[in-house]
Amino acid sequence: MWTAIAQHISAKTGQAFTIQERRSVSGGCINQAYQINDGAQAFFIKLNQASQVAMFEAEALGLSEMYDSQTIRVPKPLCWGTVDGSAYIVMEWLDLGGSGEAWGPMGSALAAMHRVTSDQGFGWRQTNTIGATPQPNPWTETWLEFYREQRLRHQFRLAGRRGGRFPRQHELLMALPDLLASHHPAPALVHGDLWSGNAAVTAEGEPVILDPATYYGDREVDLAMTELFGRFPEAFYRAYNAAYPLEGGYATRKILYNLYHVINHFNLFGGSYEAQANRMIDQLLR
Ligand code: ADP
Repeated sequence: MWTAIAQHISAKTGQAFTIQERRSVSGGCINQAYQINDGAQAFFIKLNQASQVAMFEAEALGLSEMYDSQTIRVPKPLCWGTVDGSAYIVMEWLDLGGSGEAWGPMGSALAAMHRVTSDQGFGWRQTNTIGATPQPNPWTETWLEFYREQRLRHQFRLAGRRGGRFPRQHELLMALPDLLASHHPAPALVHGDLWSGNAAVTAEGEPVILDPATYYGDREVDLAMTELFGRFPEAFYRAYNAAYPLEGGYATRKILYNLYHVINHFNLFGGSYEAQANRMIDQLLR
């Protein structure tokens, strides 16, 4: 398998690449991760079952779109495929774990990425995944419809199959036009899964975002997620707001947008996320 991956890398870069060293990298939630190098060049590889190749394809295309925006550093994807029953994705290796204070630059770089828009509306070129859950992205004209159908209703449907009980879900879906009234965001290129585990700093002190669930959506979804499990440092928000100020009403929409991730967490992990989601729904309907 590793020889085939090395050949794929050689074919893509046009330079001979033979693996000299391979070591596993910890910290991922879903895939097995490795660094491979030939003494001169290093690559980051993730592996999963062959059936998961579409997930890697979507990740590579999402990374490409963010990379091409030239706004914020993401690993440059190289290739993906299947071999011997495994799916793989290959991307640029980044020396992470820098200690520089990169939160300010991260805020302004994310704001710059959020200025990138799409004339096709809200959505993306294909379904991707949020955690291990499919995330549908059919192009949709309005944010209200996209968020209601492709985000909330989709997760409620999956949660229902898992036995989740959200007694006020229909009430919430009906209240969305009010909750989003007078909010008309432009479609923005978003990371889609921006918790602290997906933000890092290179050894040179450059901020990086990893492992995206890319689409064109309301930029506030990324800000909201940075606040879901404890906030990023204040320098991040100061720089973001200086570059691209948030609009009034964000405090309420933040709850609405994080509800998507909390229901998804119920779908992935079960447990107390159901009660947390119900508390958020109550808050929104108050
Ligand atoms: P998973 O898809 O399994 O959640 P991640 O994409 O989050 O995996 O990667 C796992 C870990 O590997 C990250 O937390 C990060 O520390 C490291 N990592 C991710 N991408 C790179 C990269 N391009 N270069 C070096 N290390 C990386």
